[in-house]
Amino acid sequence: MNILYKSTRGGESGITSPLAIVKGISDDGGLFVPDHIPAIDVDFDTLKGYSYNELACYIIGKYFPEIENLKNCIDSAYDDKFDSDSRVDLVESCGVSFLELYHGPTAAFKDMALSLLPYLMTSSIKQLSLDKEVVILTATSGDTGKAALAGFAGVPGTKIIVFFPNDGVSSVQKMQMVTQGESNTFVYAIEGNFDDAQTGVKKIFADKELASYLSEHGYMLSSANSINIGRLVPQIVYYVHSYLELLRKGKLSEGDKINFVVPTGNFGNILAAYYAMQMGIPVNKLICASNENNVLTDFLTSGTYDRNRSLIKTNSPSMDILVSSNLERMLYHMSGGDESKVKNFMDKLSSEGAYSIDPEMKSNFDFVYGGYASEKETLDTINSVYRDCNYLMDTHTAIAYKVYSDYKASTGDSTYTVIASTASPFKFTMSVADAIGETGGETDEFKLMYSLSEKTGIKIPRGLDGIEKLKIVHDTTCKKEEMKDVVKKSLGL
Ligand SMILES: *Cc1c(COP(=O)(O)O)cnc(C)c1O
Repeated sequence: MNILYKSTRGGESGITSPLAIVKGISDDGGLFVPDHIPAIDVDFDTLKGYSYNELACYIIGKYFPEIENLKNCIDSAYDDKFDSDSRVDLVESCGVSFLELYHGPTAAFKDMALSLLPYLMTSSIKQLSLDKEVVILTATSGDTGKAALAGFAGVPGTKIIVFFPNDGVSSVQKMQMVTQGESNTFVYAIEGNFDDAQTGVKKIFADKELASYLSEHGYMLSSANSINIGRLVPQIVYYVHSYLELLRKGKLSEGDKINFVVPTGNFGNILAAYYAMQMGIPVNKLICASNENNVLTDFLTSGTYDRNRSLIKTNSPSMDILVSSNLERMLYHMSGGDESKVKNFMDKLSSEGAYSIDPEMKSNFDFVYGGYASEKETLDTINSVYRDCNYLMDTHTAIAYKVYSDYKASTGDSTYTVIASTASPFKFTMSVADAIGETGGETDEFKLMYSLSEKTGIKIPRGLDGIEKLKIVHDTTCKKEEMKDVVKKSLGL
């Protein structure tokens, strides 16, 4: 039985995967979820012999059966643009395994999905015989923007428009985005924070009048944010891969459980771990690590999601989020697929900024542990792991490690643990160098990148090396109220 997609809010069902990918978000504002989660039906001994790309074909093929040239898509996406032959590296250090997901072209885990999404998108457009140019509209807290730009740059039949919060991204992140040269790319800084950018983009998606206006002019909007199911599914692969890798290395025997710790913002990456678990990977706990914007920690502890607080700018900017979009999918699954319940929660979130789940539903979340780390704890953790284990983490990964240490200390759980390592330390050079006491008074983040590399003996990722010399081609700032006009203008309308 082919998998079909439906909206978490009940307004749409029976949607094929190409349509779900192209639409990005459902007409009722809900997110597309599969009508069932497929099981892994090849034994682990066989799977152990698969390369990363073969595993990706197997897993993704179960979710997107209509994508005809999937193998070509995957082989084009995961090629030598990646610094690692196995695409992701699993590095054992300091009592855990770090699943390094940042060896792609933009040095953050977003590459795992966003190198593939453009291929899935163009293949879906072809299959649906759409005669429209797809306009990818993206709000970014830093890493999605560049990974999406890199993925869609120069892809025929697509344009991509990125909005980032002017003061909410690191110098390296900003430089990566504003130097993307291809003529189908548009990048704007907005005066506001990430939630402003994301809310603005969601508003544009919900604007029916704009949609029909764009349609008359040959355009349709789609999303490269993690609300798109085409982002989520490729992320399942690396969780399965890490389990198989631990079996290969003899760290685990088949059937042994593991914990996954995921530094979380929009809940996309950790949701992929949940899908891997539902497919048959034996998971003990999913550990959801947040920074000081700890809405998710509070939610997992109390059962109440409350975004009525100010967004705090932290040294882990990719997690500076108060409205965690993909939690909606998790609510759908944890409510046993109760769409009216989900719609209720989301209506409340938008009208009152908060909602509470009932105790029964909360107990379904028992396998998810939530914790958070402060900025100072983040820096201290980078330093101690570097000093004790000679392993250098970026700020996001450090939060995961710290929350895991707290979890382990309070529970005594000795289950083998994998930490999702989501960005290269060189993406957040200033904070990382500061943490290990190696700034040497240097305030230029780009210069610091080279000295950090020298001091630690770690190579700068290919995608970041020399970035300060690139030409800035996008330098427009806009107000959040102007986002819609900016979209039209970018399209020449
Ligand atoms: C996007 C991002 C995260 C958060 O991932 P979500 O899927 O939004 O939860 C964590 N770390 C880094 C480095 C990121 O770029």
